[in-house]
Amino acid sequence: MKVKEKFIKQATELHRHNPVVDAHLDLAGEILLRYQAGEKEVIRTYYLDHFKKAGLTLLISSVYVDDSVLPEGGLRNALDQISVLYEDIAAASDDVMLVKTRRELRYARQHGKIGILLYMEGLDCIGTDLRLLPVLYELGIRGASLTWSRRNQLATGCCRSNEKKPIPGGLSDVGLQAVRELEHRSCFVDVSHLNDDGFEQLAEAAVRPFLATHSNARSVYDSYRNLTDPQILSLCKKGGIIGINGHARIAGSAEKSNHLEMLCRHVEHIVKLTGSRHVGYGFDLCDSYSRAEPRLSFNVENNNCLENHSEMILLTAALLQRGLPEKDVTAIIGGNFYSFIDRILK
Ligand SMILES: [Zn+2]
Repeated sequence: MKVKEKFIKQATELHRHNPVVDAHLDLAGEILLRYQAGEKEVIRTYYLDHFKKAGLTLLISSVYVDDSVLPEGGLRNALDQISVLYEDIAAASDDVMLVKTRRELRYARQHGKIGILLYMEGLDCIGTDLRLLPVLYELGIRGASLTWSRRNQLATGCCRSNEKKPIPGGLSDVGLQAVRELEHRSCFVDVSHLNDDGFEQLAEAAVRPFLATHSNARSVYDSYRNLTDPQILSLCKKGGIIGINGHARIAGSAEKSNHLEMLCRHVEHIVKLTGSRHVGYGFDLCDSYSRAEPRLSFNVENNNCLENHSEMILLTAALLQRGLPEKDVTAIIGGNFYSFIDRILK
């Protein structure tokens, strides 16, 4: 899909003057891998220029703990990730800041700094010990998914993006308790990576809006990582938001020439079902993460539909070119996620 210059200009203006949010990047994990290999200043070296070009306002970084360190090393690994993220943010403090409160979120935006908010992608590292949730909260964690694609003591994952077999089994009692605890602290609950049974239970149990930070529409591309139409409707009825995933295997885009088109189709499908208030960006760009650790238990090399964050503008331009109204696009590039996070932070 060829995007015309006039739409790129329009998109660039939108990104300059409105909140821009990426609701999912495995940043903390990548920083730890690179620090372990002796690197420093990861945000400044690999991300900052692209973030600035995209006009990024807020990034939600996951703390994702890989199979290789579970179970015993899980908590240690999560703490290490949080600690190096602090250090890396401090090394780029003119441009980025950690956001834990509403005041900090707004301060960052007013002062042209990129806010970084932390959340747990899977709670494997606490086992069933929910008393650790307040500790994670103190460290800045403001949301969590119960599990990644695997099964743990809280919930069952949806299988990995390249697999095609659903894993049965929903949330455990402790998993349901974790949802209540997270909601009690006004932390968001993320359903990306949860299996279908778990989604249903969670949607029923949740009393607050919940998110799918990085998932697409299953009727556009059939993957268990993506949401069915009834799931999309149920998430939106509760006031949640779906972050469009820019991973080629989850978007269902085999060819580079189709990347933008496929991402647009996922956005358009969800907008058609629910309107524009429930869609955002959650790109999950993991090529750089993958390059930081070739021995990860999944291989994601060169699977990004967008080369880097500066290409967010290309997707925004593509949506405008395909006829989505500017006010809808403004909500999608970050307005929706920004208002949501602004509401839940204390
Ligand atoms: Zn993920």
